[in-house]
Amino acid sequence: MEFLRRQLDDEGAAPCGRCDNCAGARFGDEVSSAALDSARGELGRAGVDVEPRKMWPTGLAAVGVDLKGRIPAGEQAAPGRALGRLSDIGWGNRLRPMLAPQAPDGPVPDDVAKAVVDVLTDWAKGPGGWASGSGDAQPRPVGVVTMTSHTRPQLIQSLGARIAEIGRLPLLGSIEYTAGADAGRVPRSNSAQRLRALDGALTVPPALATALREADGPVFLVDDMTDSGWTLAVAARMLRRAGAKGVLPLVLAVQG
Ligand SMILES: [Zn+2]
Repeated sequence: MEFLRRQLDDEGAAPCGRCDNCAGARFGDEVSSAALDSARGELGRAGVDVEPRKMWPTGLAAVGVDLKGRIPAGEQAAPGRALGRLSDIGWGNRLRPMLAPQAPDGPVPDDVAKAVVDVLTDWAKGPGGWASGSGDAQPRPVGVVTMTSHTRPQLIQSLGARIAEIGRLPLLGSIEYTAGADAGRVPRSNSAQRLRALDGALTVPPALATALREADGPVFLVDDMTDSGWTLAVAARMLRRAGAKGVLPLVLAVQG
């Protein structure tokens, strides 16, 4: 204020005596190493949880979809993982431009693929993981299934292929769009409308169904992004009904 008042030729311009400039009460720019380590640990943490949908939305009967209430345990996805949340700093900053609506499709970048492998490693060793030695070890995943996509087929397919290669797992196939379906372009605002669009829009090709029946353990379901979780819920149900013993969603990003 003193500066401004001087600029305006105010004869009475003087220090106010109360502000940080006058009183010297400034914040330092030092950060304790403990705070720094904790922030680094949080930002570098491998992945975020993807909670599966357990209930169908209400109002499906009104839009002609015959699903309601609780999703049977045998048709649910298992808890999954994402590399990051789009709204987060850290991986969110890396993923936002990649997954922006106008961003071009392309193979998964190396740094992103490596980080996904870290997420898998952390997942395997953590609670509900499948690494040998962990007390409540879950059945080990035995294959990789990818999700079809109108917008980012290369990204999803290459990510699925990398996971299969690194995990030495077979790439079992991809969930496909039913001919003529247009689910990728449906507004995501309303759960019932979204479900109606997804219902019948996705299909498990016969070769994938055979592979799922023969696989003796859960499979990864790879997609680029999840927002409402309905695509994963519908896809997991289809895979389970086709014979998958379990479905572990693995996506790059959680929206929001
Ligand atoms: Zn002052």
